Amino acid sequence: MKEREMKPTILATLAIALVFTLALALALAATACKDKPDPDPVLCTCAVKEHYLPCTCGGTDCTCAVIPRGHITEYGTNKQIPIYQSVGVPDDKAVTATTTIINGYNAAGNNNKQAVSGKIQKIIIVNGTDVTCTPDGVVSIGADCTYGWNDIIIEFIQPAVNGE
Ligand SMILES: [Zn+2]
Ligand SMILES: [Zn+2]
Repeated sequence: MKEREMKPTILATLAIALVFTLALALALAATACKDKPDPDPVLCTCAVKEHYLPCTCGGTDCTCAVIPRGHITEYGTNKQIPIYQSVGVPDDKAVTATTTIINGYNAAGNNNKQAVSGKIQKIIIVNGTDVTCTPDGVVSIGADCTYGWNDIIIEFIQPAVNGE
């Protein structure tokens, strides 16, 4: 080939090579996202590493803990039963509900508290007015619940934990 004829050929070859390289780079980038660890990971920047709700920092190194809003001191065992806020419940409602739960439990009849003593694992504040309890004693209480604790124990906790 003469040099004059080669130039367009070289340009065409370079153009094809460039397109191919770009395509390959894109394909590799797509593969890298799936198979290799993120080369620039998001890191936890929380100054306080505990929250009332699961941490949303997205950090790959996040060690933030979820802590309860408060506790009830269980009748008969003196165990500290944690009261957690669930996602979606506004903070102010969770604070109010925690106080209502603690005061309500303390004010309930000792015979009722004795009936479920040692059987409440934790309390979770949820949205709404309902109360539910699992057989292993996870009690969900609506932030807008109007039940007194004698009713909460008799109607919801006792049947659930005793399999009634
Ligand atoms: Zn955090
Ligand atoms: Zn974090």
